Amino acid sequence: DKTIGVLALQGDFREHAASLKAIGQTPVLVRRPHELEQVDALIVPGGESTAMWKLATTAEMFEPVRKRVAEGLPVFGTCAGMIMMADRIVDAAAGQQTFGGLPITVRRNAFGRQTESFEEPISFTGIGELTGVFIRAPWVEDVEAGVEVLARVTSGPATGRIVAVRQGNLLATSFHPELTADTRVHEYFVDMVRGSA
Ligand code: GLN
Repeated sequence: DKTIGVLALQGDFREHAASLKAIGQTPVLVRRPHELEQVDALIVPGGESTAMWKLATTAEMFEPVRKRVAEGLPVFGTCAGMIMMADRIVDAAAGQQTFGGLPITVRRNAFGRQTESFEEPISFTGIGELTGVFIRAPWVEDVEAGVEVLARVTSGPATGRIVAVRQGNLLATSFHPELTADTRVHEYFVDMVRGSA
């Protein structure tokens, strides 16, 4: 079976590991290059993308992750993890870099200060209705051709904004399925990794 890693430098990696365990997986926490080599897929958690970028650089993980992604590693990024998987960022910190791979532009902290954290019903293509938990979340400002839009905001001032995307082996959500008891997005990713979704 496939081994799924969770990048454990920063952020809510424990919650992702718990979601994977709840669906029968045995996740590996990935902090070092030799741990990255053991995994067939990777989750990049929520947290803070500038901190994650700096820690990945210090841990000598930035280039190894970039390289595995470029070679086709399946990755699921949530919130800061979505930012890390995007080719371009609007409102990036000075010098901020991403692993990239998804030909999308994300806007950091897109929902504004008044609505830092909120829950929103989401209709997710291939899954159905779920509760999106958003915490200082990005949205996807723009996607290149070939990127599949899986969910958009359906009410309020951000109506129509893209909050879940997939291209090939790469999946990203603005919201945090790992902070809910609903494991369907993790199951969707496991199916992707197995080549059946
Ligand atoms: N605003 C954070 C960032 O820029 C992301 C927040 C989150 O992951 N909950 O990285």
